[in-house]
Amino acid sequence: MSHTNWAGNYTYRARKLHRPSTLEQVQEIVASASRVRVVGSRHSFTDIGDSSELLTLDELPPEVVVDHEARTVAFTAGLKYGALAEALATEGLALANLASLPHISVAGAVATATHGSGDANGNLATAVADLEMIKSDGEVLTASRRDADFNGLVVGLGALGAVTRITLDVEPAYDVRQRVFEGLGWDALFEHFDEITSSGYSVSVFTRWAETTDQVWVKSRVTEAPEQVRSDLFGAVPATLDRHPILGIDPVNCSPQLGVAGPWSERLPHFRSGFTPSSGEEIQSEYFVPRRHAAAAIEVLRALADTIRPLLQVCEIRTMAADELWMSPQYGQDTVGFHFTWWPEQDAVERALVPVEAALAPFGARPHWGKLFLSDAEALAAPYERLPDFIRLVEQLDPRGAFRNHWLETRVLRGAGGGA
Ligand SMILES: Cc1cc2nc3c(=O)[nH]c(=O)nc-3n(C[C@H](O)[C@H](O)[C@H](O)COP(=O)(O)OP(=O)(O)OC[C@H]3O[C@@H](n4cnc5c(N)ncnc54)[C@H](O)[C@@H]3O)c2cc1C
Repeated sequence: MSHTNWAGNYTYRARKLHRPSTLEQVQEIVASASRVRVVGSRHSFTDIGDSSELLTLDELPPEVVVDHEARTVAFTAGLKYGALAEALATEGLALANLASLPHISVAGAVATATHGSGDANGNLATAVADLEMIKSDGEVLTASRRDADFNGLVVGLGALGAVTRITLDVEPAYDVRQRVFEGLGWDALFEHFDEITSSGYSVSVFTRWAETTDQVWVKSRVTEAPEQVRSDLFGAVPATLDRHPILGIDPVNCSPQLGVAGPWSERLPHFRSGFTPSSGEEIQSEYFVPRRHAAAAIEVLRALADTIRPLLQVCEIRTMAADELWMSPQYGQDTVGFHFTWWPEQDAVERALVPVEAALAPFGARPHWGKLFLSDAEALAAPYERLPDFIRLVEQLDPRGAFRNHWLETRVLRGAGGGA
């Protein structure tokens, strides 16, 4: 097969792409492959999802089953958030949060702890109530929140098994409106960081590290109370037209703004379902630090503006609530994330990541697993304190190493006694 990832910066080396249409076929493929990975919607930016054989779940029926009493939805794990949202709409239900675009597969997002934003919102993996996965011996493993080691299974990095079915928490459908504020000053952000990130249900600060930040996107849940329309946000003024997060790009593919209320699934992502997300020509990195270090971390990145800016389309600052998932960048700490949308100049970006990672390391920065970063397993052993437990789980569930790949060995296993 010859396939690239979404960004086109990685070409899969796998010899074979399997397209099973039943669970039994997934079991057979996994049990008989020497090295195998499930491929999701290919939105990661590295070789994280490559192997000598790949399998996609796209041919399996989605089998969406809602349990109104338990407030959950179960479905085939390869389903994309956009399709899941459509199925939930017919049931009057919603998820608590979404990432910046609806085109990614739920299993792939969960495997890498993909997140949206919001002080009180955990990453998307925190919504997982049950998992079904095929282990490398072909056996089915089911696990739910009550089970030991569940917190290690969820953000599995594709290393534990082929996740075939996922159950997520749901809630009654709700509407969201978003407003964009422009020109927030750095001092205002430092002084009012908590008020700004809590000014909506989900808040994103976009910047290109110039004299001010560029935009603050505030997404608020619609309630029965009339909206308190802000005339400013600590000096930032409301946009009077729809905006794209990257200044100068036509906002036609962005979700509606200007306070127009709409379904959660059409406002929480920055981009509309039917359109090319973002600029389409980019690579991404992201680092997470404990939120108490937000201002200090912003300062060290500002000091690197001259290095960062020539390669940068835009940076997005978001907040996420702490969780208990072992390999989550939010494990044990409320977090602020610094996301970089780079121009697709990988060598230059990797050179720029050297000072960026060095500057953020003192804050115990944890990288986004699905994006581009430099740190190896040895460097990541300290910030990911549950790494030894996770490696134990990898060895226990996949003793023959079928789900191991180059990325896992260099980024995860070699750091904390995982051999490889
Ligand atoms: C335009 C764009 C916008 C993005 N926005 C955000 C954002 O807002 N927030 C954020 O946090 N991230 C964001 N990301 C990153 C993205 O969410 C992650 O890279 C995520 O892993 C993508 O899911 P995927 O299905 O494409 O996974 P893939 O890239 O296909 O795979 C990622 C990993 O998941 C594993 N995997 C996939 N399916 C399964 C399965 N069924 N069983 C076991 N393992 C599996 C793979 O083996 C691999 O290790 C964005 C990426 C892009 C390209």
